[in-house]
Amino acid sequence: KASVMDGDKFDNDLPTESPETSKAKSELEKLQEDRKTLPIYPYRDDLLKAVEDFQVLVIVGETGSGKTTQIPQYLHEAGYTKHGKVGCTQPRRVAAMSVAARVSQEMGVKLGHEVGYSIRFEDCTSEKTVLKYMTDGMLLRELLGEPDLASYSVIMVDEAHERTVSTDILFGLVKDIARFRKDIKLLISSATLDAEKFSDFFDSAPIFKIPGRRYPVEIHYTKAPEADYLDAAIVTVLQIHVSQSPGDILVFLTGQEEIETAEEILKHRIKGFGTKIAELIICPIYANLPTELQAKIFEPTPEAARKVVLATNIAETSLTIDGIKYVIDPGFCKMKSYNPRTGMESLLVTPISKASANQRAGRSGRTGPGKCFRLYTAYNYYTELDDNTPPEIQRTNLASVVLSLKSLGIHDLINFDFMDPPPAEALLKALELLFALSALNKLGELTKVGRRMAEFPLDPMLSKMIVASDKYKCSDEVISISAMLSVGNSIFYRPKDKQVHADNARMNFHTGNVGDHIALMKVYNSWRETNYSTQWCYENYIQVRSMKRARDVRDQLEGLLERVEIELTSNLNDLEAIKKAITSGFFPHSARLQKNGSYRTVKHPQTVYIHPSSGLAQVLPRWVVYHELVLTTKEYMRQVTELKPDWLVEIAPHYYQMKDVEDPGSKKMPKGQGRAAE
Ligand code: ADP
Ligand code: MG
Repeated sequence: KASVMDGDKFDNDLPTESPETSKAKSELEKLQEDRKTLPIYPYRDDLLKAVEDFQVLVIVGETGSGKTTQIPQYLHEAGYTKHGKVGCTQPRRVAAMSVAARVSQEMGVKLGHEVGYSIRFEDCTSEKTVLKYMTDGMLLRELLGEPDLASYSVIMVDEAHERTVSTDILFGLVKDIARFRKDIKLLISSATLDAEKFSDFFDSAPIFKIPGRRYPVEIHYTKAPEADYLDAAIVTVLQIHVSQSPGDILVFLTGQEEIETAEEILKHRIKGFGTKIAELIICPIYANLPTELQAKIFEPTPEAARKVVLATNIAETSLTIDGIKYVIDPGFCKMKSYNPRTGMESLLVTPISKASANQRAGRSGRTGPGKCFRLYTAYNYYTELDDNTPPEIQRTNLASVVLSLKSLGIHDLINFDFMDPPPAEALLKALELLFALSALNKLGELTKVGRRMAEFPLDPMLSKMIVASDKYKCSDEVISISAMLSVGNSIFYRPKDKQVHADNARMNFHTGNVGDHIALMKVYNSWRETNYSTQWCYENYIQVRSMKRARDVRDQLEGLLERVEIELTSNLNDLEAIKKAITSGFFPHSARLQKNGSYRTVKHPQTVYIHPSSGLAQVLPRWVVYHELVLTTKEYMRQVTELKPDWLVEIAPHYYQMKDVEDPGSKKMPKGQGRAAE
């Protein structure tokens, strides 16, 4: 909790209260007092004055100063919500949800009423909502329906330093809106001090600095590089726990899987200590963590215990966790990179930047002096880490962004007002792909297909697959597949002691080597037939939570079908039709089997493999279409379906010619495996 000592500095104007009355204080009053202890509080009136005086304001302040939770409330209290909503964007889903939950508590209202959040496939807002937290991507989507953001009086682009693609695009769009809507206010808030760049971009908007309270942080480096940073992190946690004074620990890891592994190992090792050591409460936090479990990281640590938070980058600036005194920083994060030449996108574990390392260290010095243990050498830090992470727009596939911009009527992408422009090659590649998918015509204008695609909050290839399902009369199956794919790779689970059972259960859905897409559809349909039974999920080693999410996504997609006037039709017995619909979206992702069991992608030849988790991993069909590539030990295709090469020419004649799909000397080769046609 915010320390009382610091709070005293600002509480002088409050009447002193006797212990009896404070005991009787309601939870809400307590929260109201906590608000007053935040670093931003003394600047409340100055800040409101600045918002009144200037249309655009850049706000900088340390993580935890109260920007995200307080500013929208201040604006509400000052009356800005009388004539419109205050929208506050977050780069991360979890942050949007958690912050909205906190603010609704502080305001004593039910989440989803006055305070709500909106993230992809989940809208927790209502007519009443005046403070709306949302992902930056959601605000972009809202712009498609409301290009002038008429229902908003203030837009706060929060965590601006994160520089996600959506945030970068929003910069350009809201800047333009502010020019013709003089009544809208724009706040650009950021945790780091390179605010000049934001100010420059927004025509020299003034910068409002919230002086931080930052205590000294002792930095410790390892003497030699660590061979296994995960193990080193776990050892460090235990060392701190047994040897250092009270205070919680925050460990930065790269993703869900790593966090789960760390949690398991830690639990195991702690067991070994028996009752010899104090309780260690382990709290994981990552993007897909179920909401119920997220709250755990914010609960105060009991007196005799210590908390260790295992977090992804999300704890770098997006979420503020109180009570952290020790930070363990292995120096890595998962980062997207994109090769515009091949169009391949990959998510790789990469060294962080110096800026990130310093943000991470800072998490330990918020409420008192802290310590940061860097699991790399000082030499490594000074000579090998980049100063800053390049903005995402320079290392990502832009197809989805380009489609959104085109549907907003922005044609001249080269001259779009980018803070940092994307590589021309990446823009071109996106245009090419959208043209191949028939979303754009030769002039680069949005087609009817493209307009329909843009309605779906999905990757353009998935949207195209759905739009194409109309033709093949299988929209029911295809939206189920899309929903299952959107949930990610958390459908099946494989408990360590029951792997054989789990694998058998999974392979049931693959009977007939139907391919991974159809298998996902079968899982969904079987679950639906049991009337969404939880028991059925247990019996089949399927994660109930993922299935429920898939159902929510599917419901939304069904609603969107109506909007683009696609009838919901089922064509369950014609697997070829379903596969053709899949191919209509994913034909750029086709690959052909090589003699040695590897595959070669057709358009931009590259060697790839079927992921071992695929139902086709042992089957090795001659031609496949895949959902995505993941790079682990090899470049793997994940979610694979067999196709017939003729389909490529039939479905995308502008993209594939016969010569692309003919085998040299094909006459002698056995004719396909033909399964796709069965
Ligand atoms: P900033 O945006 O400047 O980093 P925040 O407004 O997110 O700061 O956080 C300010 C304070 O609000 C935190 O120090 C913490 O005490 C509290 N807080 C924020 N989110 C939560 C939450 N979900 N649960 C409990 N406390 C929270
Ligand atoms: Mg914040």
